[in-house]
Amino acid sequence: MPDQSQVSYQDALDSLTAAGAPFELRTEEVGGIPTRNFASRPRSLRELVEGAGKRGDVEFLVQGGQRLSYAEFAQLVWGTAARFREQGLRRGDRIGILAYNSLDFVVSVFAISSIGGITVALNGWWAKEEIDYALRDSGCRFLIVDDRLFPRVSGLLGEIEGLEKTFFAGAGESPTGTVSLREVISSSEQIPSDDIHEDDGFVILYTSGTTGRPKGCVTTHRGTVTQVMGILLHGMLSAALGKPSPLPADGGQPTILMTAPLFHVAGIHTGVCTAMAAGAKIVLNEGRFDPEQVLSLIQRERVTGWSAIPTMLHRVVHCSTIHEYDLSSLSRISFGGAPTAPETMNRAREVFPVEPALSNGYGTTETHGVIMLSGDRELRDKPTCVGHPMPFFDTKLVNEAGEEVADGELGELLLRSPTVTPGYWNRPDATAEAIRDGWLHTGDIAYQDSDGDFHVVDRAKDMIIRGGENVYCVEIESCLADHPDIDEAAVIGVPDTELGERVKAVVVRIPGSGLTEADVQAHVHSRMAAFKVPEFIEFMEKPLPRNPAGKILKEQLRGRGPGAFDPDLIE
Ligand code: AMP
Repeated sequence: MPDQSQVSYQDALDSLTAAGAPFELRTEEVGGIPTRNFASRPRSLRELVEGAGKRGDVEFLVQGGQRLSYAEFAQLVWGTAARFREQGLRRGDRIGILAYNSLDFVVSVFAISSIGGITVALNGWWAKEEIDYALRDSGCRFLIVDDRLFPRVSGLLGEIEGLEKTFFAGAGESPTGTVSLREVISSSEQIPSDDIHEDDGFVILYTSGTTGRPKGCVTTHRGTVTQVMGILLHGMLSAALGKPSPLPADGGQPTILMTAPLFHVAGIHTGVCTAMAAGAKIVLNEGRFDPEQVLSLIQRERVTGWSAIPTMLHRVVHCSTIHEYDLSSLSRISFGGAPTAPETMNRAREVFPVEPALSNGYGTTETHGVIMLSGDRELRDKPTCVGHPMPFFDTKLVNEAGEEVADGELGELLLRSPTVTPGYWNRPDATAEAIRDGWLHTGDIAYQDSDGDFHVVDRAKDMIIRGGENVYCVEIESCLADHPDIDEAAVIGVPDTELGERVKAVVVRIPGSGLTEADVQAHVHSRMAAFKVPEFIEFMEKPLPRNPAGKILKEQLRGRGPGAFDPDLIE
């Protein structure tokens, strides 16, 4: 056995990805761009499910009292796919899902994709107007909605052109005008044979952006499978380098608690698909996130790994009853999607009975999830580090002129890989702005340290991440600008240990207006999800500071905390 401490990252990578090795990498073109990808990989999500189904009675999905083995899951996918086909779903059709995490949600996504349909995963926090927009924008023919979220869309049914059928998921009678999803969920051993191409859409996820209106980011079969294989390779590399293994020490099945919503890439893509490929058991929480539920699920299901959003981790490690639970099975915690405070990581190391190996994942929706992953060892010395990119990424750090920066300097991170989205649904303009010559402009400012590890330190894009949910400032600013009593407004993030950031609006009222903070909040809330409503409102008595080109100087508005704002401090 070679001494693992002597094996370099490059040696380990070379041997795992060489010709004939399990993770052999080959160059192939995607959309005319040369990229590296795994020579031996499932060519669709259907193939991934087919392979997983061979695990038979091994448990796959658990939620509350419901449990599914791999074989049961695969058969549900095949049976449900056939029923969706009978209902008229065809390759390329879009079908929205608005639901809390559930087994039906997971089965439906894979059933839809196994006949070439595309799931539009609608954000469960959205208000009626945002749901309406996404359903129209993506041209959904069908919608699946659960009982808890149904009230949000009941007024929309029959109003959206092209939306032919709504499936009702959940307890009780299906409301008038809907079909029960129970009639569709069924089991079969017959694997569908509908044509699917690797570049077909798998799931569309809405990501907002600089234009103020959300954009549907298309994820594909190829991109999803590639990033799943990348995460598995990362696990193999860690083991080869003598780092904590992602597999339980007793050789048993990994049991992963998944608390990320299924409408984010951390849910279906990096969460469910990776666990499926690894033969893990996934435990889904029920309803809204609750730290006590997380702790009792770890105890009850003997969870070995938890993939968390930083705010969730913060809440759990500060939960006052944490010591009342048996958490001895938990050996790994991975988090990402937003920066995680070093204090939260340190507390996680202290409060669990077995010190968990921590891992920080940096990713975006536009890359089907994970781009880089840093392990426990790196995070101890360098808590802001996000590790190395997975080996099918080309990376560049560039300055504002688009020139590559010198080693160690800050620049915007640009990426090229087979996991970069083919684009935003029906938005060639937005796609061309985000992806130029095959390079995705992440809008993240990063640097590479002397070990080659990346650190994401800032965002060039005007975005706040509040508790793992992205808030695009311009979207709220345009909503505020629509208010008759608002002259102008700017939205900024206020740092917060629990949520990462909170939303603040700096508002200039029209002269003589009696607009109050509550009025401003009610206006935003009438159109948008609660997480986008500014918690802090600052009224400013003079125009917002702008540069000569008219751009609001947000850096002058930031850093003053949520409290009183002194307009005289602005030049
Ligand atoms: P989304 O597309 O919603 O997944 O958001 C992606 C953005 O979240 C990235 O462009 C980063 O700004 C941020 N982000 C994701 N993961 C991390 C991380 N581990 N550390 C810091 N920021 C992150």
